[in-house]
Order: sequence, then C-alpha cells, then structure tokens
Amino acid sequence: MVSQMTGVDAPQSEHRDLFDVAVEQFEIAADVLGLDEDMRKILSYCQRELTVNFPVEMDDGSVQVFTGHRVQHNGGPGPTKGGIRYHPSVTLAEVKALAMWMTWKCAVVGLPYGGAKGGVTVNPKILSQNELQNLTRRYTAEISIMIGPNKDIPAPDVNTNPQIMAWLMDTYSMTMGYSVPGVVTGKPIVLGGSEGRNEATGRGLVYAVQSGAAALDMDLSKTATVVQGFGNVGGTAARLMAEAGSKVVAVSDQHGGLYNPAGLDLAGVTAHLARTGSVVGYAGADAITNDELLVLPCDILIPAALENQITAENADRITARMIAEGANGPTTPEADKILYDKGVFVLPDIFANAGGVTVSYFEWVQALQAFPWTEEQVNERLKQIMHRSFDAVYEMARKHHVHMRTAALMRAIDRVAEVQRLRGIYP
Ligand code: GLU
Repeated sequence: MVSQMTGVDAPQSEHRDLFDVAVEQFEIAADVLGLDEDMRKILSYCQRELTVNFPVEMDDGSVQVFTGHRVQHNGGPGPTKGGIRYHPSVTLAEVKALAMWMTWKCAVVGLPYGGAKGGVTVNPKILSQNELQNLTRRYTAEISIMIGPNKDIPAPDVNTNPQIMAWLMDTYSMTMGYSVPGVVTGKPIVLGGSEGRNEATGRGLVYAVQSGAAALDMDLSKTATVVQGFGNVGGTAARLMAEAGSKVVAVSDQHGGLYNPAGLDLAGVTAHLARTGSVVGYAGADAITNDELLVLPCDILIPAALENQITAENADRITARMIAEGANGPTTPEADKILYDKGVFVLPDIFANAGGVTVSYFEWVQALQAFPWTEEQVNERLKQIMHRSFDAVYEMARKHHVHMRTAALMRAIDRVAEVQRLRGIYP
C-alpha cells in the first residue's frame, strides 16, 4: 500500500504527513474488512477542523499570536473525545491523525464516543504560569464553539495537565454562567476529576502488557523492560511494570536516556527528575541517547513519548519481543511490517494506551451523575475493559492472520461503520 488514500476522492498531498500515515493504516484494515468505497470516503475524512490564531499578552507586556486547532474526526458514536497537546511541533495534520486515532481508540474499547483532538503550537516549558493560563483560557474561548459536555470533551495530552484542565473548565463555565464539570476530563479531583485518572494511561498499558504476556506465555518476572519517555504515561508505566515484576533497565526523556542492565532505581530517577527537571545526569546508570534506547537488549519496549520513533531505519534492530505503545503513532507502517515479519508482538496505541480515555469516560459519567467512584472501582473496571478488549483484538488477529494494529483497527472500523450505516446520511 502507498500512503495516499487509494480509491478515495481525497486531496493528494506533496509529502507524507501524519494524517497520511493514519489513513494508510485505516486503508490496510479496511481492505481486510472489505469495507465499501462510500464508507471509506466518509471515514477517511475528519468531520470538523478548526484552526484558531489568537493573541496572548505576555508577562513583559508584549503580545504573541499563537496557532491552535481542534479537530473532530467522527461524531457518529456519540460526543467526540480527545486530549489537547501543547508542543512546538503541533500541526493540523498531526491533530487530524490524532483525532482519527481517538475515534478508533474509543471504538476498540467500546466507549460511546467519537474521536477528537486539539493542540497549540507552543513550547509551554518556556511560559510562566500566568502566560500558560492566559493561553489556555483564550484557546478555550476560541474553540468553545466546538466543545461541550454533550458535544466534544477535551482532556490532557502531551504537556497538558489537571491544572490546565481546571482553567479550561473554568473558562467554559464562566461563559455558560454555571459550573460544567463534564466539559473536560483529567481535572483535579476536587473539581470533579476521577480517582485513578492521572495514572490511568500507564496503568491500562500495564494491564494490556499482562494480557499480552499471558497470550505469549511470557513470565513478567523474567523480563527486562525499556521505556521511552518518563512523563505521565512512561513514568507511571515504568513504575507499574516494576511492580508487576519486570526489571526496568532503561528510561528516557526528551534530553536523553539512562541504562542500567541490572535494573534502575526508579524512585531515585524520579527524585533526580524532580530536582533537576530531567532524568539525564542520574548517577546510577549509563547515559544513552533516545535512538540507542530503542534498540537495547530487552523483552518489552514501551515507546511513551511522541510519534514516528520506530521506523524502517531502526525496526530491524529492535530486540524486544513485545512492544506496548504508550504514545500515539510511535510506529510507522513500514516499521509495522518489519516488526510483524520479525515476530515482534505489538500492542498498538489505539488499544494499549486506551486506559486514559477509558478513565476519562468514567470521569465524565461520574460528573454527569455527580456520583464519585472509589479508586478500586475505577481500576477494577479499567482492568476488565483492557483484558476484554485484548481478547477481542487478539482473536481478530488470529482469525484474519493480521498484526495486532490491523486487528484493533478492524474491530474499531467495523463498529464505527456499523454506527454510520444505522444512522444513515443526513439529510
Ligand atoms: N490524550 C489521551 C489520549 O491520547 C486521553 C484522551 C482523553 O482522555 O480524552 O488517549
């Protein structure tokens, strides 16, 4: 398959951006499903794309104009759902890809949501708290025509956090004139956030790994794990993998990585990170680069940073038996093929990191009912959903002799297409 939307009336793009990659993955699964051309056309577009350029007053009195986006890929299954990222590399194509992946992610685990995503092109690390708040409030106001508790519900993503979700919730609530906790998830718990939401993506990922290990007959206590990224997802996944018995031998952040074949002292690394702002420089390990990290000897590799990390360049040097994608889109379609041929078992992003949006769904349900659950209830329900979804995807992969990404996409696309068929085309 090539990257363009084969057989679909879609604009041809000069180069292959992340949305082309998302469509290419979609086409592969649609081929195996035998999806009809009309449905391919509908599902390979994003339904709504909003780009906003907005001014923010900086602390020194100057004004900067920032660009942001909010994209809804498909609202068939219900309100749309997906995070907001703040990163210098955010583009509309990236946000579109991430929105499409959210549609599939929600469908793989059976949530009553369509997919959306938002992003602002900014390096939030160089902003003051005041500037960050101003940017968040103005971006929220700009996208307020799209969001709402029954319309489109944002959440945290790369470089956004519960405080930013609190500002978003407050801004939206101020324009409505009353508090609307259901407009956003990943909020602080006192504002109607859910117990367990902060750790949910990493925790769900480890439930996914446990299912995968059982299927492959892998004893986690005899495994070594490598984690790329040490943020909300990677940091939690590393800690919970160690609790599950695996030896975590390497972690990294955007500045570089750490490797200790005897196993890292994760509490020590976390304390070093809190003190210095990076894992780099921690004394109890060798310094490595992010590229070196991906090809280290290990059993389980968890890419939990950004997209396009595992590519045709490095896929054949990967030694892991299982890859669990904490990040969205870390593996290119070329790499997928190489990994499949090598027999590497991939737990794809749209399944493996679905724990975050699953607990977001729990948070939304709790907000609508104004009835909070305990952390045990949250984690238990999350575990059931991850294990059940694994079983369904694994069965699909075996039945159709496809890799796990295509199997997960097939399950998701089948559901969304069914919704689309039942709803029909308006008018
Ligand atoms: N940003 C997360 C993701 O990519 C969570 C989305 C959500 O909770 O809505 O899945």
